[in-house]
Amino acid sequence: MDYYSAPIAKLIEAFTKLPGIGRKTAQRLAFHVIHMDKEDVKEFSESIYGAKESVRYCNVCSNITDRDTCHICNDDKRSNQTICVVEDPRDVIAMEKTKEFKGLYHVLHGAISPLEGIGPEDIKIKELLVRIKDQDVDEVIIATNPNIEGEATAMYISKILKPIGIKVTRIAHGIPIGGDLEYADEITLSKALEGRREI
Ligand SMILES: [Zn+2]
Repeated sequence: MDYYSAPIAKLIEAFTKLPGIGRKTAQRLAFHVIHMDKEDVKEFSESIYGAKESVRYCNVCSNITDRDTCHICNDDKRSNQTICVVEDPRDVIAMEKTKEFKGLYHVLHGAISPLEGIGPEDIKIKELLVRIKDQDVDEVIIATNPNIEGEATAMYISKILKPIGIKVTRIAHGIPIGGDLEYADEITLSKALEGRREI
């Protein structure tokens, strides 16, 4: 690290904090920034900060939004009787691309993982239960990822909701086991939604 001047060392360090960026790539990106136009660098850094500043969690579904309530929850053409539960905001985008789902979402921001010490209280399950109490919900479709954590989360939610008379379904496994919802193509995902089963 002593090879670089302090500001460059700091920039390299900053890039290594991003996912998938090793030291070598960080170094390449840092030098790229140095060679960029001053205006472009300014715009770039402002867009990073601006995104962070304006983006927050929707106060209903916990999806990422720049408003208090996201555009999906605000859309009165959508049914609030069906809630699709996903792990990540990117899964909402994947589901939206299918154009099949007309209900609302709930984003957990993670999945239950005893191995990693992530319990139900660490993800947005409490918020889901509050929502279900307040709303007239008929069905909760659980679209967590088809891996151990996703299944554990689906089972946990189902055990809580079924006794209070809510229909709980799980999307079908058109998605390969251990796969990621985000990377499933639209056709696979809409088939998985169509073939959902009660759990
Ligand atoms: Zn929302």
